[in-house]
Amino acid sequence: MLRPIEARLDANRSRVPTQRGHTDDSPWHSSAACRRDEAGLFFAPSKEPTAARLAREEQAKRVCGRCPVLLECREHALLQPEPYGVWGGLTAAERRVVLARRRRREQELREAARIGTQVAAAG
Ligand code: SF4
Repeated sequence: MLRPIEARLDANRSRVPTQRGHTDDSPWHSSAACRRDEAGLFFAPSKEPTAARLAREEQAKRVCGRCPVLLECREHALLQPEPYGVWGGLTAAERRVVLARRRRREQELREAARIGTQVAAAG
């Protein structure tokens, strides 16, 4: 039987760029704290009331808070992107905010580079 984190990962995309010494031989999810927790904690059951969802997400985030591969998991969820559930201590809505900020920052950097090129050419 698959453990929770493996159940959440598509076998074809379970490897992510390493950040803290994990190699292809030791995928990040092999160290996941949620391997020992209920998979149901990280995803909403259908028709979950808001109060129950918030409580469940806080519980999931507490598991993430003691997870040694939080950054790898979060980056995986952002890069995929994973549309549902708590990954890397962030809900789907929180990940959308992070991605929007990243896109805005990248746009600002591209614009700054474009202006810098124009100034250099004019100088
Ligand atoms: S950060 Fe959270 S969701 Fe990700 S592997 Fe760790 S416990 Fe699981």
